[in-house]
Amino acid sequence: MGPGPVNAHPRVLRAMSADLLGQFDPEMTAYMNQVMALYRPVFGTRNRWTFLVDGTARAAIEAALVSLIAPGDVVLIVNFGRFGLLLREICERIGAVIETVDAPWGEIVPMEAIAAAIERTGPKVVAAVHGDTSTTMAQPLAGLGALCRAAGALSYVDATATIGGMAIETDLWGVDVVTGGLQKCLGGPSGSAPITISDRAAEHIAARRHVEKGIVRDDISNGTGARIGSNYFDLAMVMDYWSEKRLNHHTEATTMLYGARECARVVLGEGLEARFERHRRAGASVVAGARAMGLTVFGDDAYRMTNVTGILIPDGVDGEAVRRRMREDFEIEIGAAFGPLQGRIWRIGAMGYNAMKHKVAITLGALEAVLRAEGFATPAGAGVDAALEAWRA
Ligand SMILES: *Cc1c(COP(=O)(O)O)cnc(C)c1O
Repeated sequence: MGPGPVNAHPRVLRAMSADLLGQFDPEMTAYMNQVMALYRPVFGTRNRWTFLVDGTARAAIEAALVSLIAPGDVVLIVNFGRFGLLLREICERIGAVIETVDAPWGEIVPMEAIAAAIERTGPKVVAAVHGDTSTTMAQPLAGLGALCRAAGALSYVDATATIGGMAIETDLWGVDVVTGGLQKCLGGPSGSAPITISDRAAEHIAARRHVEKGIVRDDISNGTGARIGSNYFDLAMVMDYWSEKRLNHHTEATTMLYGARECARVVLGEGLEARFERHRRAGASVVAGARAMGLTVFGDDAYRMTNVTGILIPDGVDGEAVRRRMREDFEIEIGAAFGPLQGRIWRIGAMGYNAMKHKVAITLGALEAVLRAEGFATPAGAGVDAALEAWRA
């Protein structure tokens, strides 16, 4: 019950035990086309270019940034937690000129501040995180795309922690590239990273391989000229494989594709609205249960992610001892924290297959027993009762 990875849905694990197919096998390429169709509603988009990057969520983040950004481009990063810092680090490696608009951990960046920062910095790309699990905050993104388009900038969003759990509205937000991962609310293992790319971003990515830097030399795969940045994460080449051209790039990760496909089938089978509601109830139950136990919930209530909750470690309680007892006595893993929040909060996730009433109730019951054993007085049964009541509300 941490902030991911979490237990995978049994159907996903079963799908991943199927035998392998060659990467150009018609059955395999049919599955690829299905994956593209399945992930469009999951991303809230009609983007043609909706597919998988092979690797963990960070692979898609890096693929997006390295394919969109050239050295020297100004990038504006919306930074309110650890994953904003990751965007920054990747952009630094690319050689971008970094600008940031920041919020303290536990808050979000107001859209007016983003608008002012775009105005001030004139970025080529604006990069943001949707839900930053490090702080448990969800950044509102409505209006971001319009601001970027008006300023001639492309936009990127890391939605790893929210996809499949909170609404991802790629088209309504008007953002160009959004990426995810399986191991949070999609209920799969880490190792495949869904991505969606607007036509205008795809054109930018495809065009820049020929012209940028003015270098002309033969490319080993199709003779179209120089490319820059990464080979493995060159989305132009990966799109060539996912297109009807089926140009060879790397060997598709067959088993991960089966898993990603099944994740989306489970999500759409449940229904997106029902699924978001289940996560909302789970998050509200963790919050209510924690408060009933006399604990303090971290961060701004108005912008809380529904699928992970930060709880302040009470004074005098050894946070790591609590996590250890949770694992050893109850087989339940809850999350620690990073950076400025390290040693200050626990993070309890209720993601995907774990966003269930009984799992939340069992976790809070276990936490109560562990806290009592660690010397923190909490009213017997209060957390579980409040959680169940919040679930019903
Ligand atoms: C968990 C998480 C990631 C994780 O990336 P991996 O490469 O799968 O470890 C990235 N971004 C956000 C916002 C996350 O919450």
